[in-house]
Amino acid sequence: MHTLLLKDNVKDIRTAGEILINGGLVGIPTETVYGLAADALNPAAVASIFKAKGRPMDNPLIVHIADIGDIERFSLVSEFPEKARALAEKFWSGPLTMILPKGKTIPDEVSAGLDTVAIRFPEHKTAQAIIRAARTPLAAPSANLSGSPSPTTAEHVMNDLGGRIDAVVDGGECRVGLESTVITLAADTPRLLRPGGITVEQLESVIGKIDVDDAVLHRLRDGEKAASPGMKYKHYAPKARVVLVRGDGFCDFVNKNADDKTAALCYSEDADKINAETFVLGSMTDCDSQAHELFGALREIDREGDIGVVYARCPEPTGVGMAVYNRLIRAAGFEVIDLEKL
Ligand code: AMP
Ligand code: MG
Repeated sequence: MHTLLLKDNVKDIRTAGEILINGGLVGIPTETVYGLAADALNPAAVASIFKAKGRPMDNPLIVHIADIGDIERFSLVSEFPEKARALAEKFWSGPLTMILPKGKTIPDEVSAGLDTVAIRFPEHKTAQAIIRAARTPLAAPSANLSGSPSPTTAEHVMNDLGGRIDAVVDGGECRVGLESTVITLAADTPRLLRPGGITVEQLESVIGKIDVDDAVLHRLRDGEKAASPGMKYKHYAPKARVVLVRGDGFCDFVNKNADDKTAALCYSEDADKINAETFVLGSMTDCDSQAHELFGALREIDREGDIGVVYARCPEPTGVGMAVYNRLIRAAGFEVIDLEKL
């Protein structure tokens, strides 16, 4: 299959809309990461997303809308609780996904058989224009091969899925760079299932106390069920072994342990102090820059090819740092060295 590389203009967005109406797959830019979109109400189109990505069928998809009214217009949920309304008012459009009791139009392929559905209203103007051009909500997971780092440029999408999907719309680099925050409002107490660009603190400022699911910061124990099926899979991983290093003395630790197959994933402030190959994960004082650069850095590590171990700075898991930590600890398969305990 030839994959069209489309531009962010009216004519190409119309082409993307037509492909989607006809059941095709299009990589689309959003403010979080690139999504692999299909008509959310067309079960065959949705099934082809799983095939193109190699995604396990039990991992449900997020449904993207371009207007809050789409929820009612397409009967996407069976209930839209007060707290969901309050969050939508404050954070939509934006990088927040809400899990709600699913409506009658949602195919089982989208919800992976659960009785809930994930909904997001992206802020990216091109994403909104493509949804409107398709005249239907779009189911869209990240547009990467399952297991590899999420794509934050059209080139990343082409590298992973070129030849497997109909088109990619190039809308430039993603602003946030990590997938959306996911919160469930289908439980008694709202619960964070995946941290992202909208922080726990921001959510709590609107709806009060929320729970943070155990799987956000910790490895699931054997046999434990994931509230968000995506959490149970090894994720975001480059081919090299990644090890998180926590505590003061990161640069000294790397310098002491490095050989010619070792690299460091560090802050821009560290780069000069390290005697090994470095990949930069934003600035020490700016979690947004870390989020923005993480997946690109993981892909760069893969491009180098012959790196054995990457020692990565362990971010503080607060604010947007919680999202950076959540992705990195999965990239590291939960392998952490604590310098204070050595
Ligand atoms: P991705 O599409 O790669 O951004 O992943 C979507 C994330 O949302 C995955 O971790 C899914 O498991 C999660 N998700 C989607 N729908 C639901 C749902 N109905 N209940 C719980 N988690 C969900
Ligand atoms: Mg994904």
